[in-house]
This record gives sequence, structure tokens and C-alpha cells, in this order.
Amino acid sequence: MTHRAGFVNILGKPNAGKSTLLNALLGEKLAIISPKVQTTRHRILGILTQPGYQIVFSDTPGIIEPGYKLHEKMMRSVKMAAEDADVALLIIDATDKPEDSLAIFSSLGIKAPRVLVINKMELVSEEELAHIRSVFEKEALAAIIPVSALKQLHLDKLLAEIIRLLPESPAYYPEDMLTEKPMRFFIGELIREKIYALYHEEIPYHSTVLVNQFEEKTTLTKITADIIVQRETQKAIILGEKGKAIKRLGTLSRESIEAFIDRKVFLELHVRVRDKWRDKENFLREYGYH
Ligand code: GDP
Ligand code: MG
Repeated sequence: MTHRAGFVNILGKPNAGKSTLLNALLGEKLAIISPKVQTTRHRILGILTQPGYQIVFSDTPGIIEPGYKLHEKMMRSVKMAAEDADVALLIIDATDKPEDSLAIFSSLGIKAPRVLVINKMELVSEEELAHIRSVFEKEALAAIIPVSALKQLHLDKLLAEIIRLLPESPAYYPEDMLTEKPMRFFIGELIREKIYALYHEEIPYHSTVLVNQFEEKTTLTKITADIIVQRETQKAIILGEKGKAIKRLGTLSRESIEAFIDRKVFLELHVRVRDKWRDKENFLREYGYH
């Protein structure tokens, strides 16, 4: 039997549903999801190994105009992702204007075979799907597949198409490996997801999380993390009146970490102010944005 393996990049505008799709395809929660844009800041590999094939997905930050240094780094990882794939999945939100996405995708100069994935298909009619197809008619796409990442519709069709496009190759990673990022990274991402859920306006965008300690004790796992913000006023908001807000953040984060690692967790959160961390090379490196 031939074995296929390769790298598949998931590209698209913020909120198209890239992270939801990655998680649905893997059946795991690797990439954090939020209705707010730009939740995903890093590239995350998700490895799907089955008899006969291995697909190495990479979820990228959404394609955006760089506004500050963090954005530049995020876009660099999008560009890298566009260059080194065997297959590119171009994800669009079926309820978005397809013309905008067409312009963005054409500008990336992707050489790999491209599959257009029309996500959130359950939200639009057959006519609207046909219109989206017609907008992309002149693009030399390998396939156009409407799916719903959320409702898990047509994911089998999408997988079959990806496998068909992969080169013959042995697996790149051990079969039990799900991702290349360390546990601490995912813990930080889960806390960041709760920050997106609980705080408003600029707070999520001005925060990052650094997990300092991840220690497996006999009955529980002890985790200590810093929440980094840019200003004292933001620190006060994260803490909330009499520390109520951070208490809630701690509880929700702990519960989702416990579900993720399947162990009891003791979680300690600290808030630290780092002036303009998003614009300083040393801070960005320390917080894992390379
Ligand atoms: P990303 O920025 O492209 O990674 O998008 P996310 O995966 O974070 O999803 C953005 C929002 O779209 C979240 O609120 C998801 O729940 C929602 N979403 C993702 N896929 C679907 C889908 O198939 N149908 C619907 N209705 N919503 C979806
Ligand atoms: Mg995402």
C-alpha cells in the first residue's frame, strides 16, 4: 500500500474558522477559538496519523495588515506557511464577501495545490454557495469543498481530497505525536482563550501569558503563569474589584486545563506590567513570538 504524508497549511482571514477546523479534523482541542479576531498568534502544528497517511496541519494567524511588531511577526509566519506546504487550504467564511478573500489569496503567490474550503456552509443557501464558487471560477484550484467545521459537515470529503493531493512519502513524525509545541504553550493558550472570553476592548489584545511552572505532583499538577499586560490600568482591570475578575479567570482556566490534561490542577496567576511588550523584540522573544 502506498503511504502518503505531507504538510498542509490552513490559511484565511481572521475568524474564517481555521482553528475550529484544525480541532475538528484532529478531534482534539489544540488551537484556541474565539469569536474575537486575532486569537491565534502562533503557528501550531496538528499531526493526524492514520493507516496509510500522515497529515501535518499548520494553523496560522489570520491574514491581516501589520499594525505593530507583533502583527509583523504574525504575518511572517503566514508568509512562511504559504511557502512550504504540500497543500494549501484556503478557508473562507461563507457569509463573508468572497471577492475580498480572492484578492488576498491571489496575492500570496502560493505554489502548492490549493483547496478552497467554504466554511460555515450551514449558514448560507445553495445559491450563495454557487455564487462563491463562481467568484473563484478562474482560479486554478484543486478543489472547492463547502464544510462546516462547527457542525462537522463534509470533513470526510475534505480529508479525502487532501490525501489525494499529498505526495507519496513516509511519515515525518512518530505516530503518537499530536503536535510539536510543549505542554506549557498549550496551557498558556488555554488561559489566553479565557482572557478573550472574559475581558473586553483592548485587554485581550494587549495581554499575553507566560507559563513559568508546570510540575506534576503526585495528586495534581501545579502551574504558575504570568499574565503580561502593557499598563497598570490594564492590570487593575485583569484583577478586578477585590480581585474578583482574576479569581473567575483562574477558575475557568483551571477547569479547561484540567479537561485538557485530564488531571487535577493547582493554578496560580500573577499579573505583570511590561510597557509596550508588543513592540519590543526582547519581550516578544521571551513570550515565544519568533
Ligand atoms: P480563526 O480566526 O480562523 O482561527 O477562527 P476560529 O476557529 O477561532 O473561529 C471563529 C468563530 O467562527 C468562532 O466563533 C467559531 O465558533 C466560529 N465558527 C467556526 N467554524 C464555524 C462553522 O462551521 N459554522 C459556524 N456557524 N461558526 C463557525
Ligand atoms: Mg485561529
